[in-house]
Amino acid sequence: MMETLTKLDQEVARTLSIAREKFPDHSFLEPKVRMDLTGKVAGIFRSKDTLLRFNLALMLENKEDFLFSTVPHEVAHFVVNVIAPYSPPHGVVWQAVMKLFGVSNPQTYHSYKVPPPKRRKRPYIYRCSCQEHLFTKQKHNYANKGISYTCKRCKGICEYMGKKEE
Ligand SMILES: [Zn+2]
Ligand SMILES: [Zn+2]
Repeated sequence: MMETLTKLDQEVARTLSIAREKFPDHSFLEPKVRMDLTGKVAGIFRSKDTLLRFNLALMLENKEDFLFSTVPHEVAHFVVNVIAPYSPPHGVVWQAVMKLFGVSNPQTYHSYKVPPPKRRKRPYIYRCSCQEHLFTKQKHNYANKGISYTCKRCKGICEYMGKKEE
């Protein structure tokens, strides 16, 4: 992981040095970098405090592609914000900057697979004498095979009531 983080810093430095060389009339502050994004957003640039935020989980899943498309993508937003602040987010200026960075076919949105949040379905309703219990299909199958489940609270046996609509 440390290695990937080093590469991320190097890619930020590489793209920024290209920008500084190509646009010497502008000054580019050193951006802050945070790896605190979660979910399906890969990267964000926030101009008010020159902050680049990236999604660590997606970076570790998609190493090279993340480094060489998401990182330049966000740095390009930063550069456009300095050199042409009123141009549209993924407009011609942004695309030109991406080309300078060596990304010939810039993507507006990433296509990384985002791992779905794991939630096991529990559609089988059982009851003891004190409450309702929801069973997974597997546990329901075990119950059908004669395994009896008792409630931890009342010690009563959980009995099958029916299946929930999904
Ligand atoms: Zn973008
Ligand atoms: Zn009970």
